[in-house]
Amino acid sequence: MKVIDHLNSAEKTLFSFEILPPLKGKSITSIFDGIDPLMEFKPKYINVTYHREEYIFKERANGLLEKIAIRKRPGTVGICAAIMNRYHVDAVPHLICGGFSKEETENALIDLQFLGIDNVLALRGDSIKTESTFRPHPEGHSYAVDLIKQIIDMNHGNYMTEDYQLEATDFCIGTAGYPEKHFEAMNLTTDLQFLKAKVDAGAEYIVTQMFFDNDKFFAFVDACRAIGITVPIIPGLKPIKTLNHGTFLPKVFHIDIPEALSKELLKCKTNDEVAALGIEWGIQQSKELMAKNVPCIHYYTMSNSNEVRTIASNVF
Ligand code: FAD
Repeated sequence: MKVIDHLNSAEKTLFSFEILPPLKGKSITSIFDGIDPLMEFKPKYINVTYHREEYIFKERANGLLEKIAIRKRPGTVGICAAIMNRYHVDAVPHLICGGFSKEETENALIDLQFLGIDNVLALRGDSIKTESTFRPHPEGHSYAVDLIKQIIDMNHGNYMTEDYQLEATDFCIGTAGYPEKHFEAMNLTTDLQFLKAKVDAGAEYIVTQMFFDNDKFFAFVDACRAIGITVPIIPGLKPIKTLNHGTFLPKVFHIDIPEALSKELLKCKTNDEVAALGIEWGIQQSKELMAKNVPCIHYYTMSNSNEVRTIASNVF
């Protein structure tokens, strides 16, 4: 079933979460170990993140450095199929522009359709770690909106490969939104215009970047509605967990820690104290969001379900 249908038929706020594929070499049971404790909260769908290749430099015998691409985590297709097979819930693979030619994207989507996976979260992806700005694949897409257009084309039966007849796909597409602005955007206004372009191109719902200040989310929703974005907007929450999250999360995800939270964070001496604070903050955030009837709350587990489980047991 499609995410949009789950959202439209829900009578109360839904619970959803995303997992990271494990590092290569681990088995599928490590995924199940992260999902099992969260199944009692009846997620209608589970997202699986995608991690593109990284580059390392190896010194050769002649002293020259060789640039080598390595994939640390497996792709999403097999993991999504395994999740759907085991739990009978929908899986939502994240599909990114970075590292993919249009043809590779088409092939990935054909694989997903073949396996009965009819949801995708369409993203641009970030730059690779050794580069400061995002560089698209020479035969790929520069922005998520272009990826969305390709998927919609396939939904209309228009493939790149015209040699043989393929059935139209029927993907439900989600897209990303940033209550505190995407870090590359000139300002929130242009960021919202580009978000609207993604929705106009065919994205049926928005999932937000994590945030710790609900007021920023509510203001974001109001700003979206004011420019004519009418699709469901799903807040993304991540429980703060370690002492270094106070600097790590703003640096990596370009978000603010609100003063009330930073004040409490500075009092913490251990990671356990931070985790307890993160759970309490996450419960309060979730309760307030649910009181405002958000369609779903999406939790970033980072493949550690403990804190999300405690939050969910208090609010779902
Ligand atoms: P876009 O919508 O393409 O926007 C990127 C930037 O370009 C923005 O600043 C936007 O304002 C601007 N822009 C958009 N269109 C245009 C245009 N036509 N002309 C000029 N500027 C434009 N990354 C991963 O690698 N794997 C994941 O699994 C993953 N999952 C994520 C899940 C969620 C819910 C979120 C919020 C993010 C996720 N990301 C993931 C991170 C995401 O890939 C990065 O934030 C990336 O930098 C932007 O992706 P996007 O799809 O929002 O890009």
